[in-house]
Amino acid sequence: MSLLVVGSMAFDSIRSPFGEVEKVVGGSATYFSLAASYLAPVRLVSVVGADFPPAVIRMLGSRSIDTRGLTVAEGKTFHWKGFYEYDLNTAHTVTTELNVFRDFAPVLPEEYRDTPYVFLGNIAPSLQLDILRQMRRPKLVALDTMNYWIESSPGPLREVIDKVDILMVNEGEIRMLTGEYNLVKGARKVIGWGPSRVVIKRGEYGVLHLSDGTMFAAPAYPLETIFDPTGAGDSFAGGFMGYLAGRKGGDLADSDFRLATMYGSAIASFTVEAFSTERLQNLTPEDIAERLGSFLALTEFRV
Ligand code: AMP
Repeated sequence: MSLLVVGSMAFDSIRSPFGEVEKVVGGSATYFSLAASYLAPVRLVSVVGADFPPAVIRMLGSRSIDTRGLTVAEGKTFHWKGFYEYDLNTAHTVTTELNVFRDFAPVLPEEYRDTPYVFLGNIAPSLQLDILRQMRRPKLVALDTMNYWIESSPGPLREVIDKVDILMVNEGEIRMLTGEYNLVKGARKVIGWGPSRVVIKRGEYGVLHLSDGTMFAAPAYPLETIFDPTGAGDSFAGGFMGYLAGRKGGDLADSDFRLATMYGSAIASFTVEAFSTERLQNLTPEDIAERLGSFLALTEFRV
C-alpha cells in the first residue's frame, strides 16, 4: 500500500566534529521518502524554491516516489543551519529560514487523498493539520515535530497530535512537549491525549516504543563510521512507516510494529555514515537485509 509524506525539503548547512558542509540537500520529507522508497511506494508533498536542483527531483521521481505533490515555487528553498558537538545526539540550530514554506498552502492531488498510510513529517503544525483535513480516513497516521514548532506553535501542534495514531519524537522533544522528564511518564501522557503509540528516538541509544500496556526497546547499531546524524530520525521514520505500508497481510499486530522499529533502525544506521542523503541514496535490498541480520545478532540472547 502507498504512503504519503508531508515535510520539509531543504538545504542544510551542517558542522559536526567530523567536517562541515554548506547547503547540501536535506529536509524531513527528503530523508523520509528515500528511506521509505525501499519498502513501499511514496507520495511526496512538499515545496522547494527555484534554486533547488532539478536533478534531485528527477532522482526522487526515478524511484518509487510520486512527486506530483511537490511544488516548485518562486523564491528560496527552506534552509536549516545547525551543528553537533561530540554529543551527536543533540542538534543545535543556528538558523531556520522557512522561505517558500512561509506561504505554502498545498492542495492534495485527488489520487493522494485515499492514501492509507500518512506521515506528517517535521514542518509547521498548521500545515500538518491542513494535510490531515484533506485526507479521507487514512488507516495509520504518524507525526514528527521538533523544538522549533513546540515553542512557536503549541496550539496547532497539540491539535494535530490529538488526531494521530503515532507520535514519533526524540527524547528532548517529548520532555519539552509534556513537561515530564521521565520518558515513560511522558509517553503515557501523550497516549492520554489521543495517539495509541509513542516512539521515542534516543540517538545512539536507540528507540523506545510504547503503547497502552506494551514497551519495546531497540538499540541503535554501534557503528565505527559516523559522520553526520542529520536525517537519522526521518530515515528511521521512513523505514518504520515503509515497512508497515509495504507489508502484506491484514490488521497490524504488535509484532508488526516491532519489526517496523527494526527496519527503521537498520535504514537510519546507513544515513549517519555520510553527509546529506549520499549513503541513503545508494542502498541495495541486500544491504538492508544484512543490517537487519546484524541487529538480530546484536540483540539475541537465550535464557
Ligand atoms: P532529523 O532526521 O531529526 O535529523 O531531521 C533533519 C532534517 O530536519 C534536516 O535535514 C533539516 O532540514 C530538517 N529541519 C530542521 N529544522 C526544521 C524545521 N524547523 N522544520 C522542518 N524541518 C526542519
